[in-house]
Amino acid sequence: MPAASTSVILPGATLGILGGGQLGAMFAAAAKRMGYQVEAISDVADCPAARHCDRLHLGSFDDGDFLGRVAGALDVVTFEFENIPAAAGRALAAVVPVRPHPDVLFTTQDRAREKAFLTAHGFACAPHRVVRSRAQLRAAVADIGLPAVLKTAAFGYDGKGQAKLCTAADVDAAWEALGAGPDGPRELVLEGWVDFDCEISVVAARGLDGTTAAFAPSRNAHANHILDVSSVPAGLPEPVLAGAVRTTERILAALDVVGVTCVEFFVTRDGRVLVNEIAPRTHNSGHLTIEACDTSQFEQQVRAVCGLPLGSTRLVAPAAMANLLGDCWFSSAAGARGEPDWAAALGVPGVRLHLYGKTQPRPGRKMGHLTALADSVEAAVDNVRRARRLAARA
Ligand code: AMP
Repeated sequence: MPAASTSVILPGATLGILGGGQLGAMFAAAAKRMGYQVEAISDVADCPAARHCDRLHLGSFDDGDFLGRVAGALDVVTFEFENIPAAAGRALAAVVPVRPHPDVLFTTQDRAREKAFLTAHGFACAPHRVVRSRAQLRAAVADIGLPAVLKTAAFGYDGKGQAKLCTAADVDAAWEALGAGPDGPRELVLEGWVDFDCEISVVAARGLDGTTAAFAPSRNAHANHILDVSSVPAGLPEPVLAGAVRTTERILAALDVVGVTCVEFFVTRDGRVLVNEIAPRTHNSGHLTIEACDTSQFEQQVRAVCGLPLGSTRLVAPAAMANLLGDCWFSSAAGARGEPDWAAALGVPGVRLHLYGKTQPRPGRKMGHLTALADSVEAAVDNVRRARRLAARA
């Protein structure tokens, strides 16, 4: 390992962020506050990170020469979204430390590889089969049973590229919709349906020296496959929560992560904790750490990738976060597009507003989020949901 990769990267240095979305913007805000320069690499000019960074490098993740040139001016690179070609990470890593290492991205950006990693290391997850043809899908359904959920191995997020299979009649339709790509069959993963009690996630960081620090698990409610509300404490028995944290820390160690990673879990009705997904970056379910914890997940990402000591993850108060999707702009009584009533939302006690600066609201698009702190998690969830209803005039 080059000497530079083990030394501390101090304020004043230039941090690169691959991707220009809201996670990159919030990372940049945290890093700027700490005195770093931040440069984003994105293929979208008008991206949320552009407003918070010192510089935006606009170019394609497929252009190795561009990435190599950009990397020369950076002290370390991290990423904020996963759909980046592994070759892009490697092109950067040839010039500058990339944290987490691009191999982590390679393993986790593809569901088949991620499941193989989990299985090889003995981490419990839903029963699954990788399928590459209609015949293999039929055999996998016979093996795993129905209901099940079929997912594209690559480039899926927020429920995109997924189909639930309930009856035998769904099998061929799901293959046509997801597997029969125009360029030949796509790789898919069939997962047994988990009749879960709830979903939780653990955001954790691992430093250059291998120390880890996990935030308290958050309970996550989804709507239409997109995260809707996260809340902490998750309100589950301590052994369940401790098990999820332990599994997360073991996953970070097995992947040799340097940086922040989120592991999403299903908690089954009999108290088993199954890994759903690994995201080797900050996560939507960790946004409430900005107000609710001693250190936010974004500052923690800065600390981890710069080789600084990890910050305290102590929860300061019960908290809840509600996503603001583009739908809020279209849900006024008249059904017409309108700016949500932010003043009404901010009138609810303990509520904070985050807007990502996206100019085009679209249904399903993450435009911002609200966080509420309260004396109890129930009150935080009630308040954040009420604030969102008031904003949307729903
Ligand atoms: P994913 O993109 O894999 O995280 O899936 C999005 C959401 O779909 C999850 O958060 C769950 O709510 C649901 N889901 C995905 N896979 C399963 C499964 N095997 N069983 C039950 N629900 C699932």
